[in-house]
Amino acid sequence: MFKKILVANRGEIAARIMRTARRLGVRTVAVFSEADRGALHVRSADEARLIGPAPARESYLSIERILAAAKDSGADAIHPGYGFLAENADFAEACAKAGIVFIGPPPAAIRAMGSKSEAKAIMDKAGVATVPGYHGEDQDEERLAREAARIGFPVLIKPSAGGGGKGMRRVDGASEFAAALAGARREALSSFGDDRVLIERYLDRPRHVEMQVFADAHGRVVHLFERDCSVQRRHQKVIEEAPAPGVGPELRARMGAAAVAATRAIGYQGAGTIEFLLEPDGRFYFMEMNTRLQVEHPVTEMITGLDLVEWQLLVARGEALPLAQDRIECSGHAIEARIYAEDPARDFLPGSGTVAHLRWPETGPDFRIDAGVEAGDAVSIHYDPLIAKVIAWGRDRAGAIERLARGLRGIQAVGPATNLDFLGAMLAHPVFTSGAVDIGYIDRHYRELVSQGPAGPEAVAMASLYLLLRRAEDADRNAAASTDPTSPWHRPVGFHLNIEPEDTLRFQAAGQDLVVGVRYRGGGYLFSTPDGPVEAHGGMAEGDGAASNLIAQVGGRDRHATVVGRDRSLVVFMDGRRYEFVLAGPRLAATLDESPAGGLVAPMPGKVVQVHVRAGEAVKRGQALMVLEAMKMEHAIVAPGDGVVRAVRFKEGDMVPEGAELLSLE
Ligand code: ADP
Repeated sequence: MFKKILVANRGEIAARIMRTARRLGVRTVAVFSEADRGALHVRSADEARLIGPAPARESYLSIERILAAAKDSGADAIHPGYGFLAENADFAEACAKAGIVFIGPPPAAIRAMGSKSEAKAIMDKAGVATVPGYHGEDQDEERLAREAARIGFPVLIKPSAGGGGKGMRRVDGASEFAAALAGARREALSSFGDDRVLIERYLDRPRHVEMQVFADAHGRVVHLFERDCSVQRRHQKVIEEAPAPGVGPELRARMGAAAVAATRAIGYQGAGTIEFLLEPDGRFYFMEMNTRLQVEHPVTEMITGLDLVEWQLLVARGEALPLAQDRIECSGHAIEARIYAEDPARDFLPGSGTVAHLRWPETGPDFRIDAGVEAGDAVSIHYDPLIAKVIAWGRDRAGAIERLARGLRGIQAVGPATNLDFLGAMLAHPVFTSGAVDIGYIDRHYRELVSQGPAGPEAVAMASLYLLLRRAEDADRNAAASTDPTSPWHRPVGFHLNIEPEDTLRFQAAGQDLVVGVRYRGGGYLFSTPDGPVEAHGGMAEGDGAASNLIAQVGGRDRHATVVGRDRSLVVFMDGRRYEFVLAGPRLAATLDESPAGGLVAPMPGKVVQVHVRAGEAVKRGQALMVLEAMKMEHAIVAPGDGVVRAVRFKEGDMVPEGAELLSLE
């Protein structure tokens, strides 16, 4: 086995590769950019090398710097993970030249499959069906238009060098063709530096079903069954499962044979994936081959009990595949969900920033988490916003769904918005549970999947209780610090002798104003919520980091919740759900750590595009003070209360990191 490997990647996949290496007694070297100092993958390695600044071009995509790190650390092989340099034939060649093993296929196979057109030509020759279309060299506009008409509309224009769903255009009729072609070419050129395209018939509601293949240097080729990756947004996968629902032994055998034939046709070695589009009538077409480990490989590991990274290392060492085709078994069902820092309600807008609170449920043989970050780590604007993958196994599909849903409910995340609720909604959605998904599933059911139920009275009571307990803690602290600790003026809320004290709490939840009346009853409270009165009392137990554990009696029942309060937001985790409340009153900053007192901080890294106020100016609550542009959206920074601007820390055009104090108020 190798003595030491360098992992030329970051995030969850780097950490996952290192786990297998450690189990096999192979030492690991991480590489990292300046944005990833101390990142999880760096902490997971035996040693680590800085390879450059945050932009991938200058770090994770720099062949020269990665090879220098490999030589410097004495690594005998490089695992590229997925993305970055994983499908770069020049990199594979450069490794060989430097005397370092590239854990992946031969450069020629990467090249052949790197162009969708060339790949399709090879498959046509090998007798593997491709989507009816045109993938010729002649890129003349008139020729392409003629081919589109021959194929029959609707057609799909795809960049030959494409990936990640970029640059693809659906064209419904001849009159739209020229404009769509121009758009596809522009995007292909800017994304891949190559404006060649191919044209395919646009299939109506196919499923994306792919076969995992493996080949060794001794001519042995096997497949490890299929994965269904039809659940996609923007042509990118979100949920993957194995085996594919509705694929029986006969179809599986046909797809497996086609995948093995395709793999043989290019003299492949290592792990690869043959992607097919599957039509309802059982016809399937080769789409492309990914010459690397896939993001969704864990579902295959779960149903076969094999470690695909271990197999990659064995093949790269020149050893034979450990199992023949008839010894590879499929047991039960596995589903993976990708947890992204993104906001499904805003068309899956990617997010970034520090993950202030992150708690994972327990894992085991039927529930796996491949995480790229831990609490306190940042999701960087420079890379893919994947936080983690969670994978569940069940005896059957229903069991896997149930286990995954339970696992997802146990995850608590506060920081950038995530798709956790969206994933939960999907796992409970009747079309998904029936298994009748195709590539248009998310688009068709988007509204149902993003609409969130309002917080119930118990969650509202928990949020209110938390707020009052925090206030009481503050009042106690202030009282202890003052000269007269018994003074009634330190009581946190409207204190009057002889009458039942009352108070009102104002929040925003799910975009709605929420007013909660508070009456003090014995040792607890009576909250009047929009859904009726709830009695509650309880206390705060020790939490971890930014989180507090709340143990309470709510509506006569013992309830537990974890609450994370930061700035003006309160996130309540209860019964496997997440409820977010925004304080309409003064922010929690005075009470809670994080933000500098009196300062307004950047909620995410971005650029200052407008400054509306000057030092010394009086401002009113809710007034916009500054506008920040981040992730292609504008965010107004508003005054949390009436006051005077003490200092403005940035000017228009400045770039600001997350958490930077933008202005201070008095
Ligand atoms: P990329 O390499 O950019 O990811 P792919 O060729 O793998 O592009 O296609 C990505 C997705 O686009 C597929 O999973 C499928 O959802 C959709 N797609 C691709 N080709 C077609 C087609 N001919 N008809 C309909 N949808 C398609």
